[in-house]
Amino acid sequence: MGVARWLRDHPALLERAYDLTAGAIRRLEPVLRGIGLERLERLFAWGERVTKKPLFDCRMCGKCVLHGTGMTCPMTCPKNLRNGPCGGVRQNGKCEVDPTMDCIWALGWIRSGRMDTYGSKILNIHPPVDRRLEGTSAWLNMLDGTDEKEPPHWHREVIELDKIMVIE
Ligand code: SF4
Repeated sequence: MGVARWLRDHPALLERAYDLTAGAIRRLEPVLRGIGLERLERLFAWGERVTKKPLFDCRMCGKCVLHGTGMTCPMTCPKNLRNGPCGGVRQNGKCEVDPTMDCIWALGWIRSGRMDTYGSKILNIHPPVDRRLEGTSAWLNMLDGTDEKEPPHWHREVIELDKIMVIE
């Protein structure tokens, strides 16, 4: 097993690294804004590509949800689902599209249970991936709030859990 896979299987370490990085970037926000977020875009996108690609197989979606998916990148799902699993997971935990790979949502669920802080975020409903952000820096998108904007035509429906009927 490689180092990246080992780290993904121990997401409590990665969530600490996420907290440290997010905290540092927020503290540096006045400086970064002083330089200009647009000017920093290429540098940050490059930095994310060279660090997150080997660690998470990051696809540079521009809106990072790793800490809400057990530090498992949902964009590695062949269906690019932002909520999962899809319902087609094989009994052995493999993907229905590519039976050679583990279902990343099944992995994300297991890994979320190993997190100290963000494990319950796996229950949050995410909007579909916004292709307009592809290739951009997720950290800078977090700073300027771009990642909070939901794709057009996406309607978030509030599900009242006590009104869900379980049909057996
Ligand atoms: S969620 Fe997006 S930014 Fe985060 S690792 Fe996956 S592709 Fe990269």
